Amino acid sequence: MDYANNILETIGNTPLVKLNKLTAELPCLVLAKYETFNPGNSVKDRMALQMVEDAEEAGVLQPGGTIIEGTSGNTGMGLALAAVVKGYKMICVISDKQSKEKIDILKAVGSEVHVCPTDVAPEDPRSYYSTAKRLSQEIPNSWYVNQYDNPSNCKAHFLSTGPEIWEQTNGKVTHFVVGVGTGGTISGVGSYLKMKNPNVKVWGIDTYGSVFKKYHETGIFDENEIYPYVTEGIGEDILPLNVNFSVIDGFTKVTDKDAAVYTQKLAKEEGMFLGNSAGAAIKGLLQLKEHFTKDDVVVVLFHDHGSRYVGKMFNDDWMRQMGYIE
Ligand code: PMP
Repeated sequence: MDYANNILETIGNTPLVKLNKLTAELPCLVLAKYETFNPGNSVKDRMALQMVEDAEEAGVLQPGGTIIEGTSGNTGMGLALAAVVKGYKMICVISDKQSKEKIDILKAVGSEVHVCPTDVAPEDPRSYYSTAKRLSQEIPNSWYVNQYDNPSNCKAHFLSTGPEIWEQTNGKVTHFVVGVGTGGTISGVGSYLKMKNPNVKVWGIDTYGSVFKKYHETGIFDENEIYPYVTEGIGEDILPLNVNFSVIDGFTKVTDKDAAVYTQKLAKEEGMFLGNSAGAAIKGLLQLKEHFTKDDVVVVLFHDHGSRYVGKMFNDDWMRQMGYIE
């Protein structure tokens, strides 16, 4: 018999899938690391499990304890799965710009969800960063995960996602392109691939309203770069410790409209029903066209599944209201 002992054992070993139509104008091979095959439907299952197991080992997460995290949904899902299997309580603190589907999904897997306003500064007591921290101080036997600064986030991708991409491409990968939020994915995969071959180029996808691109290019944390945006999952108004700028060769920014339109295109032209950051990632990759040549093998990572966006990027009324389609 061939079976996993619990759902957590099915995390990782996701397929690599060739893009055919959307990338037809490019000279190179483009392969998608297709992370929705994880049991929580996103790449975040990998780092969630790593963070929980490292916290158990360090003794900061004790039997019967409560896991608390400020999460846009996918990390919460991964943590919730680990909590269910391992017997912890899970509390997710989420910002009100996230889709209703994400909140309902977290509740479905047993999480308590607190919704906080988006348009306040991170240090404001109402922000989801502050609320998560406060709850962890108030609730006994609780552990605040802090995916932004928790080194197990980046480590998960160095230990699993990076090696998988290297082996699946037979070491032929030349470029890695991925959306950046906490920075765990780009930093973990990027440092693994560059350790195997220093010539691999690593590109981050950023969004308008986020600080990453300007900071990478100038070393300046420019508050003028910060304003509300629609794209989900990528961009930040802080510099998380998990963003290792030294393994990143460059950033490109994608507009909210382009990210939404390309999320639809992935589904309709490639049969890839994916989240909003996948739309941003593929559009960003197309913006980088001049950097790719005939023999290149470009890997783009798609973080999560389309089901979480049916009320938004896959709803034409919403798309029209936003002015993204006619
Ligand atoms: N896309 C989605 C849908 C996400 O949830 C996240 C995590 N915030 C990212 C991209 C960015 O990944 P990372 O946090 O590893 O930079």
